[in-house]
Amino acid sequence: MIDIRKIWQETQANLSGELPAVAYMLWIDSLTPLCVKDNVLILLAPSLNTKITVNKNYKDLIRTALSKTKSTFVDVDIIIDEEKPFFTKEIDSFHDNQIIINSEPRKKQTQFIARYTFDNFVVGESNKLAFHAAQQVAQKPGSAEGYLNFNPLFLYGGVGLGKTHLLHAIGNYITEHLPSMSVLYVPAEKLTTEYFEALSNSGSSDKKAFTFQVFREKYREIDVLMVDDVQFLKNKIGLQEMFFHIFNDLYQNGKQIILTSDRPPKEIGTLEDRLRSRFEGGLLADIGTPNIEMRIAIIRKKMILEKIAVNDDVVYYLAEQFDTNIRELEGALSKVILYSTLINKPYPDVETAKEALKNSAQHRSGTLDSNDIINAVSSYFHISKVDLISKKKTKDIAEARMIAIYLITELLSLPLVTIGQIFGGRDHTTIIHSRDKIAAEVKNNSDVQRKIKDIKELLKPGM
Ligand code: ADP
Ligand code: MG
Repeated sequence: MIDIRKIWQETQANLSGELPAVAYMLWIDSLTPLCVKDNVLILLAPSLNTKITVNKNYKDLIRTALSKTKSTFVDVDIIIDEEKPFFTKEIDSFHDNQIIINSEPRKKQTQFIARYTFDNFVVGESNKLAFHAAQQVAQKPGSAEGYLNFNPLFLYGGVGLGKTHLLHAIGNYITEHLPSMSVLYVPAEKLTTEYFEALSNSGSSDKKAFTFQVFREKYREIDVLMVDDVQFLKNKIGLQEMFFHIFNDLYQNGKQIILTSDRPPKEIGTLEDRLRSRFEGGLLADIGTPNIEMRIAIIRKKMILEKIAVNDDVVYYLAEQFDTNIRELEGALSKVILYSTLINKPYPDVETAKEALKNSAQHRSGTLDSNDIINAVSSYFHISKVDLISKKKTKDIAEARMIAIYLITELLSLPLVTIGQIFGGRDHTTIIHSRDKIAAEVKNNSDVQRKIKDIKELLKPGM
């Protein structure tokens, strides 16, 4: 039996003393051992910023410290919450075989994103109704409270304003406080795909009726059903009809239903009338855009959560610039932090922030171009742009160049010949070779996968 927690403790013991106490506390202490894949110890980082910093500055130290333990692990890999789905099998097998002997109260692996909690949600004028209603249904799912009917709870508002966050907060709360309840979170798009798959797998009309039955029964078992982004529920081949039945089954049994959308039910043009009236039958709560105080509070909260620091001017600057979408606001903060880590300026000022955001696609023309990609790859690998497009063949430069080429072919629709020209007049077959080589590695080399993901993070619009 392997106890990865013990091995991680041993590794940590080997590490302390190898780096300053503050750095140890900030970066090493916050990592949690998660599972093992191909003899690589997978550690979970609390934020993208931690992941990037650890990968950049401490991975070699960790690897060495790990090699001094009794384990047979050959390497470590740092991942964040969003990457957990890639390791579902490994994480599950650890639980099933009891390979982990974790004496700490084991956090139940759930479908919910851990940091999307009520505690981490900043409440203000624009979202207080939605917030309180969400808390109410989390505490007492399915029950009517006084005059207010919270079933269904319908949350609506623009992109990046916290709808999905609230659904996960409800999920996290119920998982912790009402563990016997089954909660299902499903994006409308996934529900649609599942439905059409079930449909195409059933042939004759008999079988079709049977599939419907099975589908409906699966949902009937649930105590709390959350469907995210219902504006995507297509009105096609019986999908809304099926959902209407699921809705009624649950509703009649006093089960809680929570829905979100980017607009109120009456503005969802594709919605059948009977579903619309069901959706409007409970509480409609809208989420508006946050004012500047809230935006500042959100940045501050995020800094505490991620243990990062920028000065007040930067907080204000970001809050002022990004006023309609919190995802973009958070993205901008991450980008500033990432950039300042790359240029070794740990406490960024406004000038650094402006510099970090200057290259971002959004601020220039709204579309990504090859220059953005070359810039991002160049700062990520600390390799000059001149070297990137040169004929130099050293390993580092060649790898960075191939990754740049791969990203350009993946993200832009440029002719291969043009890409060849950008890279110092290379032949298009060279471009194809680079693209295919990295494409193959992305499939089975987690190191390359990670690099690509980090660089894409640098490229994200609005960041
Ligand atoms: P939506 O689903 O409405 O498009 P999300 O729930 O995905 O938006 O929110 C986008 C990001 O903004 C998430 O990282 C979320 O945690 C954050 N966020 C949104 N609203 C708040 C808030 N009031 N307080 C803290 N973070 C928030
Ligand atoms: Mg969402």
